[in-house]
Amino acid sequence: MTPASISDRGGLASRARRVIPGGINSANRRAPDLEDLVVARTDGAYFYDTAGREFLDMFCAGGPIILGHGCTDVDRSASERSRHLDLAGVGRSDLEVELAELIAVHVPSAERVLLTMSGSEATYHALRLARAVTGRSKIVKFEGCYHGWHDSVAIGFSLNQREERRGRMSAGSLVGVLDETEILDFNDASAVRTALADRDVAAVIIEPIAHNVGCMMPADGFLQALRSACTDSGTVLIFDEVVTGFRHGLGGYQAISGVTPDLTTLGKAIANGYPIAALVGRADLMDGFSTTVDGSVLFAGTYNGHPGSVAAAIGTIDFMTEVPVHAHVFELGERMRAGLREVFSRYGIAIQVAGFGSVYVAYFLAGTGGVATFADLAMHDAARFVAFRRELVQRGIFEFPVNLKRSHISYAHTDADVSRVLGAADDILRGWSP
Ligand code: PMP
Repeated sequence: MTPASISDRGGLASRARRVIPGGINSANRRAPDLEDLVVARTDGAYFYDTAGREFLDMFCAGGPIILGHGCTDVDRSASERSRHLDLAGVGRSDLEVELAELIAVHVPSAERVLLTMSGSEATYHALRLARAVTGRSKIVKFEGCYHGWHDSVAIGFSLNQREERRGRMSAGSLVGVLDETEILDFNDASAVRTALADRDVAAVIIEPIAHNVGCMMPADGFLQALRSACTDSGTVLIFDEVVTGFRHGLGGYQAISGVTPDLTTLGKAIANGYPIAALVGRADLMDGFSTTVDGSVLFAGTYNGHPGSVAAAIGTIDFMTEVPVHAHVFELGERMRAGLREVFSRYGIAIQVAGFGSVYVAYFLAGTGGVATFADLAMHDAARFVAFRRELVQRGIFEFPVNLKRSHISYAHTDADVSRVLGAADDILRGWSP
C-alpha cells in the first residue's frame, strides 16, 4: 500500500477538516502523502494509524519521546503519583518541589526553576524577564533557530520562510515587535559583538545547537563568544534547550559545552511526551517574577506544575539517572550517522550527515565542511531530501517528509531498527541509480 492510498478509515480525517482548521492542531504536523493520517496507537519505537499501518517512529514527536512511547515507568509515575492530586490553584505540591530540586541539581544555570506547559511560554517569559531586568527592548536571535510561536521570535526560523516570506512574520503579529528583533547568522560572533556594542539589547536567545534546521553545530568558541559579549554588554544570554535539554544529557548542552547562560528554557524530553516545560536561571533574575512578593514581571498559568506532567517529568529524569539511556541513544546515533554516510557513498550521492547524540539528519549537500551557517543550507537539495523521506515513509519508516526536519532515536530503538533504516536507504538509492 502506498501512502497516497492510505484510506481515511471512518472518515476521521474528513471530519477533522470540517471541525479543525486544516484538520490538524499544529501547523508543524502537515506532511505530504499523509494528509489523511489518523494516529491510532503509539507503542515503544512505533506508531500505528487507523488504516492499520505500522510506522517505525524516527521522529519521536520532534524530540519529546526520549525513552520510547508508553514508557511504563513514566506512565506509572504520572498516574500513581497524581492519582490523589489534581489542581487546587493555591500554594504548591510536593511534586513541584521535587521536580524543581531535580532540575536544579542537573542543569548548571538552574539556580531557580519555574514550570510552564510549553516551550513557547518558557521563551516568552524569558524574553519578557530579560526586557524587564535590563530596561531594554531589543532582542537578538539567529536565523534558523525556532523559539515558539509568539511575536518576538516567530520569524527567521525556516528556510522556506526565508525564501518565500523574507522579512515577514506571522500575519497578525504586532509589527512593532518585529522592529525590536534582530536576526543574525548562526556562528557569526563578530556580528553579535557589533549588535551588542550599543548596550541596548535586552537578550540574546539561541538554540545552542540549531536543531530547527536539522543540526547546525556551534563553531568552536562561538557559545563562549556569546557568553563574553553578553557579560560585557549587560545582555541576558538565553539558551533555548527545549530540544537539547535532557535529550543530549541531563544537564543539557550547557553542561556539555561548559558555557552557562543566564536563563535556560527546557521542554520536550524532560517528560517523555507529557506537556511540561521550564524556565530556569540565575536567582537574581528569576526572583524578578511576580511569583515573589516584590517581583514585577508577571508569571502565571492555571496549569503550571500540573501534577500529572510533573510526576511524568520526575519519572523521566529518574529513569535517565538510573538507566544508561544516553549511552544507548548516542551509540545508535553514531551507528546511524556512520551507516548513512557509507550507504550514500556506495551510490555516489553527495550528502553531509550531521547530528549530535540521538539526533541525525542527512543534508543533500556536496562537500565535507558540514553546515556551519544558514547560507550553507541554500545549496542543500530540498526536493531530494523530501523525496528520500517519502520513500522511507512508503517503507513504513517515519522520518518527517518535510525539508530540514531532524530525526530522533529513543531508548526503545534497537540496533535492528538502525539496520532497518540503513537497509531501506540502500533500497531507495538502488532504485535511484541509473
Ligand atoms: N524552542 C525550541 C528550540 C523548539 O524546538 C520548540 C518547539 N519545536 C519551542 C521552543 C516551542 O516549544 P512548544 O512547541 O512546546 O511551544
